[in-house]
Amino acid sequence: MAREGGQRHLICWGDLKPAAAFTGETDAAAGVKVIPCDLTNLRALHAAFPFTAPVPVAHHRTTFGTGDRLGLAAPGHVRAVRGFDAVPVLAQQSKRELNLTGRTFPEVIAAASYGVFQEHFTRGYGADADHVKTEEEVAEALRQGATMITLDASERLDAAAASLPIDSVTGALDAVPANWRHALNRRYLETPQFVGGAAGISHLIQISPERLARTVLVYGRVIKFAIDIWERHIAGTGRDFELSIDETPTPTDPAAHYIVARELQAAGVEVTSIAPRFCGDFQKGIEYIGDTSAFEREFDLHAAIADELGHKLSIHSGSDKFSVFPIIGKYTGGRLHHKTAGTSWLEALRVVAGGDPGLFREIHACARAAFGRATAFYHVRLKPGNEPTLPGADSDLPGVLDNEDHRQLLHITYGAILVDSEKRGLKLKTRLFELLDRREEAHAGALEQHIGRHLKELGIAPRKDT
Ligand code: ZN
Repeated sequence: MAREGGQRHLICWGDLKPAAAFTGETDAAAGVKVIPCDLTNLRALHAAFPFTAPVPVAHHRTTFGTGDRLGLAAPGHVRAVRGFDAVPVLAQQSKRELNLTGRTFPEVIAAASYGVFQEHFTRGYGADADHVKTEEEVAEALRQGATMITLDASERLDAAAASLPIDSVTGALDAVPANWRHALNRRYLETPQFVGGAAGISHLIQISPERLARTVLVYGRVIKFAIDIWERHIAGTGRDFELSIDETPTPTDPAAHYIVARELQAAGVEVTSIAPRFCGDFQKGIEYIGDTSAFEREFDLHAAIADELGHKLSIHSGSDKFSVFPIIGKYTGGRLHHKTAGTSWLEALRVVAGGDPGLFREIHACARAAFGRATAFYHVRLKPGNEPTLPGADSDLPGVLDNEDHRQLLHITYGAILVDSEKRGLKLKTRLFELLDRREEAHAGALEQHIGRHLKELGIAPRKDT
């Protein structure tokens, strides 16, 4: 593989027969074929080098999602993960991110595939269509090569039912079909429900008739949606199937997590991971906000439920929560799926801040101008009107990436920086890509260190044979 002016090529020389399936330019006299690393050649790449194609990975104990909004981060992500006993999900992009960056899922897979080739990483990796919300989106993602579907059922969750007065809740079970009602009563009310926790201490999941009815009101449509999607699209395909219920204002009650997971199990749905909404606040790209001891008590229970029922916990918005990583590591014992995305974009910006202060100042100004609009898509603590300003000295710029206000500002405005500014002729994206191309090693090194720190603090075992 060779790189010139931001474009990568595969160079085949000598016997050119193995390169026949690739599109490129052949110099027959020199015995050389030059093949662009693009979408056109992706199928041929996967056929010639099967380790470059994404595969289902959920059966591995530790899986780690590394979203890459630029399509340039895969080499750094591979370097971070390869030193640990974990398998990466290198292609991971939500519909929201695809829309805001103007990319397609096949482009995301291509970036991961060529990155894996470049690093000669042969342990396998996954491709997660993150936060897909409709049946059409699921079908499209599968056609486009996703090996993992993260079904976001938040829109079918009736959060208001969690705070309905008790007398309007207890009648709820009468409205569900009789055979399901009997099964629910039998499963949850006739015998106490225990799950085994850490260090052999088992936990009682408290399920009263009211709590059961409330859970059915809040999650009934979520359960039904997940069963439908499984039966129509996932069953028999071997792909990884995650259910996310994390994008809601209220934390997921552990009893509800237990009931949802058991109902899916009873329906034969092989859900590989579930993403609950944990207590406290998991905002993008910054530390955990909340009481870590309350988090620990609740997380212990969620982890025990996942262990008992056989799925993994999936930790969304999992970047930079260093204060709770030891807790997550302790109670899952590393059996988990963990997702990060925007934090890698911030590491790329750190490279820009050090390498081209002028460009970084323009990017920051664009972010400030776009921040108010971007808060419609993301939940952040920083309020419009309070956008931070940059220090005067260029040598202080990389340090602003350690400040939570700057991190949130730059984290959620990537769409404006990458797409809108380009349309307005500012060429921020073009110049950013040129810089990261020139400083490829610094970029990969920053990612290796930052993502590697996540795995280390989660207590994932290092591995020797990288
Ligand atoms: Zn999420």
